[in-house]
Amino acid sequence: MSNEETTASNENAEVGVRFADLGLSPLVLKAVEKIGYETPSPIQAESIPHLLAGKDILGTAQTGTGKTAAFALPLLSTINVKASIPQVLVLAPTRELAIQVAEAFQSYASQLKNFHVLPIYGGSDYGGQIRALKRGVQVVVGTPGRVMDHLKKGTLKLNDLKAVVLDEADEMLRMGFIDDVTWILDQTPEQRQVALFSATMPREIRKVADTYLTNPEIVKIETKSQTVDKIEQLYWLVRGANKLDALTRILEVEEFDAIIIFVRTKNATAELAEKLEARGYSAAALNGDMSQSLRERAIERLKNGKLDIIVATDVAARGIDVKRVSHVINYDIPYDTEAYVHRIGRTGRAGRSGKAILFVAPREQRMLQSIERATKSDIKRLELPSKAQVADKRITQFKAKISGAIENQDLDFFREQVVAFAEETAAEPLDIAAALAYMAQMDNPLLQPKDIIEDKPMREERRDRNDRSRNDRERGDRERRPRRERDENMDTYRIEVGHNDHVKPGDIVGAIANEADIDSGNIGHIRIRDDFSLVDLPKGMPPKLMDHMQKVRVRNKPMQLKLDTGPRGGGERGGDRKPYKSRDNNAPHRSARKPHRGQARD
Ligand code: AMP
Repeated sequence: MSNEETTASNENAEVGVRFADLGLSPLVLKAVEKIGYETPSPIQAESIPHLLAGKDILGTAQTGTGKTAAFALPLLSTINVKASIPQVLVLAPTRELAIQVAEAFQSYASQLKNFHVLPIYGGSDYGGQIRALKRGVQVVVGTPGRVMDHLKKGTLKLNDLKAVVLDEADEMLRMGFIDDVTWILDQTPEQRQVALFSATMPREIRKVADTYLTNPEIVKIETKSQTVDKIEQLYWLVRGANKLDALTRILEVEEFDAIIIFVRTKNATAELAEKLEARGYSAAALNGDMSQSLRERAIERLKNGKLDIIVATDVAARGIDVKRVSHVINYDIPYDTEAYVHRIGRTGRAGRSGKAILFVAPREQRMLQSIERATKSDIKRLELPSKAQVADKRITQFKAKISGAIENQDLDFFREQVVAFAEETAAEPLDIAAALAYMAQMDNPLLQPKDIIEDKPMREERRDRNDRSRNDRERGDRERRPRRERDENMDTYRIEVGHNDHVKPGDIVGAIANEADIDSGNIGHIRIRDDFSLVDLPKGMPPKLMDHMQKVRVRNKPMQLKLDTGPRGGGERGGDRKPYKSRDNNAPHRSARKPHRGQARD
């Protein structure tokens, strides 16, 4: 099956592969420059030349490696914008990914006139998608079910398709879409190019590759194992608070000397450094656009304490050796484990200890696992400091400042002023002190109890970390999971497909995740019976969505989703359980679990 195996590693960046060396079209290069990418990620450096040469590709790559640009940049470089017909089709497992990929195409095509990309996915109305398809698009990014529907309706035509990308193929397999994917591949012209990206390569995906890829180049990220001593490693799962808020909270409570914060783009170094400066930190950007002397000056200022925070890209920070660096914060996740090891090696210098904090979006958890595996470290979960902790810290610092001033400053003149003020106004000394304290804290206000509204507790991780590492979870796993206590945030729903229809949990997850826009992580326990199934879903599904879910098809049967009403209604819930509470259809739908993003739909 394979041609030649190539491995991508961070060395590409070290030997200085540049975007300009890869053969991309000038307009695409210009867009990349505008976005602020400095160097191609390893998977990009390997994949782009192959895709430009028209070869098929089998890429082992997960989210965070830059795989979207690895296929979007070369495919855009050869697209014909004069022809308003689909030339590239990307299949993605979820609507979120489809939208994200479409947005990425849009940004990489910012310099191409008359370029149009359309995301198509279940749950949104056909009319809009059909109109957009009629107006003409060059790239379609869709979830398999909806793409298949459009092909069957004849509203999407692939006669002139030049390339198909299967993005996160293993996820599509897990969600029960693989038959749809192969059906779609069968509808594409024989000569089309295929790029298949998958974080793992289970047998079924290899089979697809064997059947549909011609002499593919195999590209994967090499994970050399490397050890990292002395560095305490933590990760924060990005949720709830945004990254900037999280960062500032961490900066408030962490005792740090100097920090290097890593981001992905040149633009992000400048933006984040500015935001931190606006919040009172002495921060500066460090990126590849800066001259050597400017960079050296920034590092010198970090060394001598004139600067506490540097926000850097990987390339710019290579080799920084500053003993004061007590923390590395990976604000954007690195492309691979080698980059991670390089980054965190900027702390713990000269025998000192160091701390590394990694921000991980839920979709990037696989990268976290790879890093843990390659570095043989257990990266511990960091809970964001609570607002009460931040408040305590500010008060402690404020008190320390007062004590410092009492101890170290000559206050005679100021004492005289206070005495004079007290005599003139008959104000109590305590009131004067309180007023001065109020004035002194204005820049970094102390938080009063009334100001402290803690974030809502996040729902418990659905998967524990060992579970998370089971990448090749089979489609039946959900069903085999031991029955847990019913989660009070979940309702049990019944759907009219079961074993008799050969339904698998993955089919149900896929249909619900895409059509109801419920994150697959929020779909609970699934029990399949002969002629129906039960599935736990977050409470409070809007009536409109319930209506829509009647018609959604699983294994070619309408699922007819409804609340399970127990054995009398033909369901399963025993009399030992409390009846469902009466439902208030006007109640706000978003519970703490916040699963349904799109509310109004067809
Ligand atoms: P992906 O792995 O495709 O989901 O990409 C992860 C993130 O990396 C996205 O936010 C991209 O914008 C960003 N990214 C991709 N390629 C590069 C690059 N060469 N330099 C900097 N950032 C990049």
